[in-house]
Amino acid sequence: MSSIQNITILVPLYNEERGIIRLIERLDKLIDQSAEKISVLFIDDGSKDNTAVLLEKNIEGKENYSALFLSRNFGHAQALTAGLQETDHTNADAVFIIDGDLQDPPELLPSFLQKLKEGYDVVYGIRKNRKEGFLKRICYKIYYRLQHRFASINMPLDAGDFSLITKRIVKIMNSLPEESRYIRGLRSWVGYKQAGIEYERDERIHGTSKYNLLALFKLAFNGIFNFSELPIRFIVTTGIVSIGFSLVYLGITVYKKLIYGTVPEGFTALIFAIVLFSGVQLLSLGIIGQYVVRIFFQVKQRPLFIVKSRIINGKPADG
Ligand code: UDP
Ligand code: MG
Repeated sequence: MSSIQNITILVPLYNEERGIIRLIERLDKLIDQSAEKISVLFIDDGSKDNTAVLLEKNIEGKENYSALFLSRNFGHAQALTAGLQETDHTNADAVFIIDGDLQDPPELLPSFLQKLKEGYDVVYGIRKNRKEGFLKRICYKIYYRLQHRFASINMPLDAGDFSLITKRIVKIMNSLPEESRYIRGLRSWVGYKQAGIEYERDERIHGTSKYNLLALFKLAFNGIFNFSELPIRFIVTTGIVSIGFSLVYLGITVYKKLIYGTVPEGFTALIFAIVLFSGVQLLSLGIIGQYVVRIFFQVKQRPLFIVKSRIINGKPADG
């Protein structure tokens, strides 16, 4: 894969009006400095602020820039999916995925590209330092390590969506019919030669993160339940262990009955057992529910996103 001429930079945007001018400035510079032909594809994920208007105003007439406008907010993963599917119809040899808040410095493209030229198909960024708050940093650390343990595929630690991937990887990812899209997981699942590059994740300059703690949990759940059967095995193991315990306890009780003739005692133990095992049962139902819900949404086969309008190479195009 040494002949990479055309690169598309994919940038999802949700309520990023305050940073967009700066973003385009930095991308312009990158386009000027690159030997390769760089195109930018923005995906406006149903922003409620002025992002869409500012986008139109600032990219119209600029040949290197395109944009998709989704009909509502579909979420980060869906926005990226929309972008990946759109690039399938272009001549892009590779796709560079970055965040629209400039936390992933676009200027790192040359070093990512270097790796790609060495024969890798996926080059992802590894976050060396995080500049988020302490609590969020801890949560991230735990989450990535849990996921690493849990998932049946080998997902790299501290790697997000920031990556440069070749056309064939884009094609494969687009062919995956999953409704619940965990992009970094799908990217790992694909295989081929993958490599990580360490980088400093910058602070968000404008606006706020769209991932609050709840959204992060959702993301983490996708990472675990979309790629692992371990939670189900946990249920089976807990079931077997509790059956074992109850058999032992039954044995002791029968023995006591036969030898001493006494049995009724241990009210606390009884309550304890009831509370513990009803908890375990609810948890188990919840775990099964996680898988069922995913099946439920998958069988509906709804489209993953709806494109309301497009700007292609600086010119407005039909839906
Ligand atoms: N984003 C999006 N749709 C959403 C939420 C976020 O397109 O529903 C975009 C957002 O504009 C940004 C990127 O996804 O460009 C990453 O989001 P954010 O910076 O909030 O995440 P964090 O950096 O905190 O993980
Ligand atoms: Mg961010």
